[in-house]
Amino acid sequence: MKYKILSIVIILSILLGAFGLQNLDVRKNRYHQHQEALPKTACTDHGREVFCTHLPLISITTDEPVPSPYLALMDQDGYFLKNDEMVGASIEYFDSEIENNHLTDTPVVRERALIRIRGASSRKYDKPGYLIKFKEADLVTGKKVSLSGMTADSEWALHGPFLDKTLIRNYLCYNLAGEIMDCAPNVRFCEAFVNGEYMGVYLIVEKVEYSDDGRIEIEKTNPKVDTTSYIVQIDRDSHNELESIETFASYSYISANTGAERRGYYQIEYPSSTLTEGQRQYIESDISRFEKALYSYDYRDKRHGYQAYIDVESFVNYFLINEFTLNYDAMGLSTFLYRDLGGKMKLCVWDFNSAFDYYEFSVVSPETFSLQNSMWYSYLFKDKAFVDRVVARYHELRKTYLNEEYLFGYIDGTIAYLGPAIDRNYDKWGYSFCSTYNGVVYDYLYPRERNPRNYEEAIDQLKTCISQRIRHMDTHIDRLYTLCHDSLNKSINYQEVN
Ligand SMILES: [Zn+2]
Repeated sequence: MKYKILSIVIILSILLGAFGLQNLDVRKNRYHQHQEALPKTACTDHGREVFCTHLPLISITTDEPVPSPYLALMDQDGYFLKNDEMVGASIEYFDSEIENNHLTDTPVVRERALIRIRGASSRKYDKPGYLIKFKEADLVTGKKVSLSGMTADSEWALHGPFLDKTLIRNYLCYNLAGEIMDCAPNVRFCEAFVNGEYMGVYLIVEKVEYSDDGRIEIEKTNPKVDTTSYIVQIDRDSHNELESIETFASYSYISANTGAERRGYYQIEYPSSTLTEGQRQYIESDISRFEKALYSYDYRDKRHGYQAYIDVESFVNYFLINEFTLNYDAMGLSTFLYRDLGGKMKLCVWDFNSAFDYYEFSVVSPETFSLQNSMWYSYLFKDKAFVDRVVARYHELRKTYLNEEYLFGYIDGTIAYLGPAIDRNYDKWGYSFCSTYNGVVYDYLYPRERNPRNYEEAIDQLKTCISQRIRHMDTHIDRLYTLCHDSLNKSINYQEVN
């Protein structure tokens, strides 16, 4: 009898274990649209004059004209202030699994929403990105809507690649990050119409925010309790007093992102509407506790050092994905830190517009390392155990995702999937390959010879950059060990690694 009970217990635990693992696999299973979307049946019932796409199709009709992305007011440095006014809109989404999509089909989503033009530096481009907030008919209450199988949510970013002539940087990088680490927004390509005008190829991107079922899964906040799960964005100053926090690293000027153009402002993204002053103080001191541990003499101590506060694997992966893609906005801008109650701090990627040497104002050489000098990492890299993990993880990823064959195959597969949508996009925006057009300069990359003149050249640039990057990291990744050499621990926190 005793043995019978014992064997039942053992069988049950095996079953439960398998079930738990299976759940984990399901959650981590990343959807790659170009590999998984079903091929569409060719249309025979209409002519070329009818707009027809194999991609999902979004049509936005605004109640009033879309507000300009800038106000007619300048800040003290002479830059126009951003206009974040939103307008009511009706949104139709066409997404047949087996047939092409047309504006005359029955939409799978027909909802009201508020929209505005989004982005920071990308606001100036002719092809804007949009923020969509789905609402009930009153345009006040949020409404969760699922797009192309992604978790239902009220907020979505509609990214319109314009500077990125390949159209695929963000798709590639988000999906790569999604394979490598816990948190990376899901994405889907679509084509877009705004107020009846064709706007080209867009990428629907999940916003990084709290969700009880799919985005950032953290415990729901309770406004009556100061201790809370949270998401903090590190970005430009939002000038919002309640959301902005000053942690130990910022008020003690340890942050490497201080200086003339200060970046790296911390803003609380979650809790949002119910955030209390008590919770704000809790989050501020919680992050400060990690930073004080990181910048202390016993930072390596497992119980008292940084490891007690952060999920080291998440920080290792975040470093590698951003370093590999040369995404040097990371840590100063477009970075999300989140912590579940009772869990450790993790990082989430956001925005690869400048990845693979697409920073507008200067060349980003694939023959360098940079993020080891940024806030937090400049100290993490003093610990040999951290460098060991970065180097080991890099070699592990080289066998799978950070691999020329895999990445080139991924790029070629995505281009083949987009197919005629690329041509339609450039029938509309092809003039942006010109140095100047109608008196406007479209060479956004400086120096100007970096700007590709056609689609093939843009893809060649991307692939060349990836090859050079792999070659450089392979031969130089061990140099990161110079950062944890004892003599450097007493030195300043900036170190060139080439
Ligand atoms: Zn058709």
